[in-house]
Amino acid sequence: MNTYDGAAEPADLAPLPNESDGQAAPPVMPLAELHLHIEGTLEPGLIFALAERNGIELPYADLDELRARYEFTDLQSFLDLYYANMAVLRTEADFADMTRAYLRRAAAAGVRHAEIMLDPQAHLSRGVSLETCVNGVASVLASSQDEFGISTLLVAAFLRDLSEESALEVLEALLAMNAPIAGIGLDSAEVGNPPAKFERLFARAGEAGLRKIAHAGEEGPPSYIIEALDVLGVERVDHGIRCMEDPELVERLVADRVPLTVCPLSNVRLRAVDKLADHPLPAMLAAGLNVCVNSDDPAYFGGYVDDNFAQLESVLGLSEFDRVRLAANSISSSFASDERKAELLAELSG
Ligand SMILES: [Zn+2]
Repeated sequence: MNTYDGAAEPADLAPLPNESDGQAAPPVMPLAELHLHIEGTLEPGLIFALAERNGIELPYADLDELRARYEFTDLQSFLDLYYANMAVLRTEADFADMTRAYLRRAAAAGVRHAEIMLDPQAHLSRGVSLETCVNGVASVLASSQDEFGISTLLVAAFLRDLSEESALEVLEALLAMNAPIAGIGLDSAEVGNPPAKFERLFARAGEAGLRKIAHAGEEGPPSYIIEALDVLGVERVDHGIRCMEDPELVERLVADRVPLTVCPLSNVRLRAVDKLADHPLPAMLAAGLNVCVNSDDPAYFGGYVDDNFAQLESVLGLSEFDRVRLAANSISSSFASDERKAELLAELSG
């Protein structure tokens, strides 16, 4: 069930763009997108197209009625709509079309490397096989550099509101099918589902040679960030904005150069911050934290990574120096090869 309450648009955000606008303002800056859920790129137009292709009846009469649901009161209210819309993803071709649409739009935004999260459990629970969702996305990622100029990696993200046993089962199945995943992540409803719940999952991923990331400190407290680092051994923290409530933690994150993948428009849409003018990003930059800007679920939160930058510039007066610093951080915090990072950093400074 959705919890649309007719809440007003946050005062300092532009209205939600539809998929036909929101083009990047030239010149685009090369960067890496490290916090992106592929299911969150499913635009309303594609939802309707896939519903028609698969003979699925949607609970919305038209695009406008669907778009009217995109007002969220918190993370859970977004997740309700997010999971409902996934019903249109049935076949490998559906996952492939969604992935291609993201890469096309991301290329226009300047994205040159992307680390893309897929939530296998959200599809398994609907009767869609692991092979269908993984192969559908991976088939497009395999040629992303040639087709879109974007090098890519796939990350299997696990739903933290489900059990660790379920996550372990899916991870073993991914390993057994030799899925082309570079790492694992942890997402979905954060509060009440602390990182330590998944200690064995992350230990197993480490044994299998996978990279480790986790959402922490979005709605959850700073202690969740500490747990993700100390108990799960993550190399990067998704969101992490609530670290600012713990000066000792900030000191540690700065000293260790721990990357935080910040998603400003997402934070405003999900009411983690009241309005963009109150976003902690400027304070995080001033503190010397290793932050970068990402779109999270761009079809739901009012924009892709270039839209995030455009709004940061107009509302927070982000300087050119900080823009370049954020882009450089995104590239150096990625899991791309050293060679690819050097190539993109050279392109950024050129
Ligand atoms: Zn996220």
